[in-house]
Amino acid sequence: MTFRLLILVLCASLAGCLQSKPLSETQAIQLHQSLITIDTHDDINLNFATPDNDPGERGGTQIDLVKMREGNLNTAFFIVYVPLKASTPENDAKAQEDAQTKLDAINRMTEMHADQVGLARTSKDIRRLHKAGKMAALIGVENAYGYGPDLSKVSAFAEQGVTYGGFTHYGHNAYGDSSVPIPPLGDQEDHWGGLSPLGRDLLAEYNRLGVMADVSHASKATTLEIARLSKAPVIASHSAVFALNPIARNLSDEELIAIADTGGIVQIVAYDTYLKDPVPEKKEAVDALMHEFDVTRFTFSKLTPQQIAEFRLRMNAIHEKWPKASLKDFVDHIDYAVQLIGIDHVGISSDFGGGGGVIGWMDASESQNVTLELAKAGYSKKAIAKLWGGNLMRVMDAVQARAENP
Ligand SMILES: [Zn+2]
Repeated sequence: MTFRLLILVLCASLAGCLQSKPLSETQAIQLHQSLITIDTHDDINLNFATPDNDPGERGGTQIDLVKMREGNLNTAFFIVYVPLKASTPENDAKAQEDAQTKLDAINRMTEMHADQVGLARTSKDIRRLHKAGKMAALIGVENAYGYGPDLSKVSAFAEQGVTYGGFTHYGHNAYGDSSVPIPPLGDQEDHWGGLSPLGRDLLAEYNRLGVMADVSHASKATTLEIARLSKAPVIASHSAVFALNPIARNLSDEELIAIADTGGIVQIVAYDTYLKDPVPEKKEAVDALMHEFDVTRFTFSKLTPQQIAEFRLRMNAIHEKWPKASLKDFVDHIDYAVQLIGIDHVGISSDFGGGGGVIGWMDASESQNVTLELAKAGYSKKAIAKLWGGNLMRVMDAVQARAENP
């Protein structure tokens, strides 16, 4: 793509993120094996770290400790995510219970497999674990709905290891507007016009506690407001570029620049439909399948396990006919962000377990392919190290230093 040429011109005056002679495959593999590699978004199921779903064994999910070791993906943020439901006392209580269940599960994994993985809260922890030959698990919160209707749980979650926290998922919530409203829940295009008053208090609480504020899934107005009001750098834990695929979930140039201006970072996500708009025939096939099963993306959970298995098989056949986005598509989004906001403000995320995965990086065991693709695109060793975690650790340090010295 022409972006690459532009990057070459830009980087000549920046950190020299591309090199004239791309790294060889052997050099790229050696580099990958030596790096701290951080993936900032990996979803887990409610039964994570139980005998039914032991991350110490190779399972059916895209990420577990076995696959991480195989792919030298040594550091991952595991996610405390709950979906938004219509606000009733039962639904709200269940969401808070599920959030606590996931938080406990991630901590339990680090106890069950302490010989392999440790909980990290700081960049020092990540480096210490890496030096000891262990993997690092970190914790992020997706959808502030899981905190409940007030901020009383936010500091308790931080004490239990949460180092980044978001605001919304799909659907506007009590904290702010989402990039993707849910009409069946009564959502209009805008509800708050950005953050709610409670959302602004949540941001202040994140800043106070040294928790990185995450704009992924937030609406444009919400994202720009977070970037404007935050007293510390902000992150997008798993987002792609609007200019390359204009869907509401992606980040516009204005948002990318606003995030970088806080000193923050955009973790480009390897998510098929965020990276590349499916061809019309594929969209029609997916719509027909959804219609046949009488579901929307918001009502998928009503299906029985057998129906879900059948649905997945049929969906896989669609992906075979019209392939998903590739690693090249993924690196195109990285290139665009690097060109616009600079190599120091870009990173990598998969969204494994939450719909992520592109051809070549379908699970954690294939993580080395990301480095190979970046090397092929001409990124230098130094630039790849920044993308894979150096930048994220810098931002984490800055956010935590800010909390200690408000
Ligand atoms: Zn997400």
